[in-house]
Amino acid sequence: MPQNADNVLDHFNLFRQPEYKEMFENKQKNFEAKHPADKIEEIREWTKTKEYQEKNFAREALTVNPAKACQPLGAVFAAVGFESTIPFVHGSQGCVAYYRAHLSRHFKEPTSCVSSSMTEDAAVFGGLNNMIDGLANTYNMYKPKMIAVSTTCMAEVIGDDLNAFIKTSKEKGSVPQNTTFPSPTPRPFVGSHITGYDNVIKGVLEHFWDGKAGTVDKLERTPNNRSTSSAVSMATRSATFARSSASSA
Ligand code: SF4
Repeated sequence: MPQNADNVLDHFNLFRQPEYKEMFENKQKNFEAKHPADKIEEIREWTKTKEYQEKNFAREALTVNPAKACQPLGAVFAAVGFESTIPFVHGSQGCVAYYRAHLSRHFKEPTSCVSSSMTEDAAVFGGLNNMIDGLANTYNMYKPKMIAVSTTCMAEVIGDDLNAFIKTSKEKGSVPQNTTFPSPTPRPFVGSHITGYDNVIKGVLEHFWDGKAGTVDKLERTPNNRSTSSAVSMATRSATFARSSASSA
């Protein structure tokens, strides 16, 4: 198997190894009754048509997947979509077990996620040591380029300062100074997993666009009545962001 203790691959690289590709193909063929690729493409195109839009909006008695979960679940889901990125949840391990189980059951695939495993003593004295040790383990195991930190209710209740904890962890050598940390995603009490997903995407975009990554200057917006030069400038920034994300994330 490509995964072993000396060379731990993250999900992005691991699931592209030949063994996993073959396993996914067998799973689709033998257990999922998957439709042919051309049929899937045909339906995908149909969902962009006016006919589909009208049918969609005409629904009255059907609610699709109304279940809602807390912000960190969405944060984990968004983070695993970036290459060489590991979601790190600061808080209790039970919450993280729930996110992993939920995503694994839905996608029928393993989900990588790290917990700082706070327990009673951390709930009383603060979770700084958990984060220092947790980030060190994360880096040694996965060698990520980007770590997306979110919190569970436990860390929020005691008011752990994530930005300060990340800074201290870097100073203590848990991770290299150049490891990318987009803005942490706290507040599991409000919103839902959708809010958490959006916050991680916003945090990543802000990290690279606002110059925090050190790859571009901070984006300065000046009102100019949407002139052509503004549009060109924005397009240039988009291209720069795409390049820096590809190389840094
Ligand atoms: S305790 Fe809070 S963070 Fe943990 S699963 Fe429940 S709502 Fe989410």
